[in-house]
Amino acid sequence: MSDHSFATRAIHAGQEFDPTTGAIIPPIYQTSTFVQDGIGGFRGGYEYNRAGNPTRTSLETQLAALEGGVSALSFASGLASEDALLRALLRPGDHVLLGNDVYGGTHRLLSQVWGPWGIETSTVELSDLDAVRGGIRPETKIVWIETPSNPLLKIVDIAAVAELAHAAGATVVVDNTFASPALQQPLALGADVVVHSTTKYLGGHSDVLGGAVVFGDDRFVDAVKFQQFAVGAVSAPLDAWLTTRGVKTLAVRMRQHTENATAIAEWAAARPEFATVFYPGLATHPGHEVAARQMSGFGGMLSFGLAAGPGAARAFAEATELFQLAESLGGVESLIGYPPEMTHASVRGTELAVPENVVRLSVGIEEAGDLIADLEQALAKIAGR
Ligand SMILES: *Cc1c(COP(=O)(O)O)cnc(C)c1O
Repeated sequence: MSDHSFATRAIHAGQEFDPTTGAIIPPIYQTSTFVQDGIGGFRGGYEYNRAGNPTRTSLETQLAALEGGVSALSFASGLASEDALLRALLRPGDHVLLGNDVYGGTHRLLSQVWGPWGIETSTVELSDLDAVRGGIRPETKIVWIETPSNPLLKIVDIAAVAELAHAAGATVVVDNTFASPALQQPLALGADVVVHSTTKYLGGHSDVLGGAVVFGDDRFVDAVKFQQFAVGAVSAPLDAWLTTRGVKTLAVRMRQHTENATAIAEWAAARPEFATVFYPGLATHPGHEVAARQMSGFGGMLSFGLAAGPGAARAFAEATELFQLAESLGGVESLIGYPPEMTHASVRGTELAVPENVVRLSVGIEEAGDLIADLEQALAKIAGR
């Protein structure tokens, strides 16, 4: 499968037809346990659903193939996957270096769940390599990269940060949720491990929660697999199946997300109502050059700052009709959010806070003209504020 191109792997990896009936779609193995042919006689190695399930194996095979990894493990949520990875890699006294705009849930997990167990966390501007050098300590075990970041779409040079981290003996984890493997391949750029919230672009239809860890080599596989089995935050069979179905259309969806977001970014850049447009596809974006080098497309997420300030941003987020006001991202339908009071409410007033005039879009795959017309009517509605 690895000699096929990305779009082909997305459809075929781990998706062999059912040998007993010929069903082209592998079944949902909605079962908790597996009958043994005599004690220890496991058919296909399956014993109990927490330890393994064929539907989950299908998804894990598919995800590993997409990221170019040796294997993958799937979990009940993105944070559950991060938690299993951290539990496998960290010991008291270890330090984790995060970007200063890391996903809030990752920061909360490390500082509030792992902090009391002796894990140190600090944040740094990962797009500034001198700052990264200064932020790495002798006890730094993990450098955690997220690019593009949320919600300002900052770009981190994965290869350059990985080189610094590896020189210090640290493991490089990339949260590839925003780009998806269709647009960015962190393992090929030097990352050791990739994590995902498959809830977002991989699932792609806003109907399932999930997460995954994908491994560039064998070093951590058994340790994380043990955590998956021992703690049990696995993805349920139906959830795994829905995610595999979503993943099959990832390549074509990401192309359309990118095309639509590009059209909206160009439209917004020309409108005086927006003071700033944060989209890595724009030549004016500070991370544009790195993004153009390490991504094969700029993705479907974009943010802008309203020139008229926070009140206008808030009103704008409530004035769209096609863009639904909701948290989350990566589905086929367009969403809008006001980060200071939604996704980033818990970090308001901290070093992770985002500007108060910013609105975030998860641009879906509807007709771009309809989306722009919706944004135009929202501007008209709030005009004069
Ligand atoms: C949503 C998200 C997560 C957490 O995933 P869940 O599936 O919600 O647990 C982690 N990282 C990023 C970048 C996300 O957007």
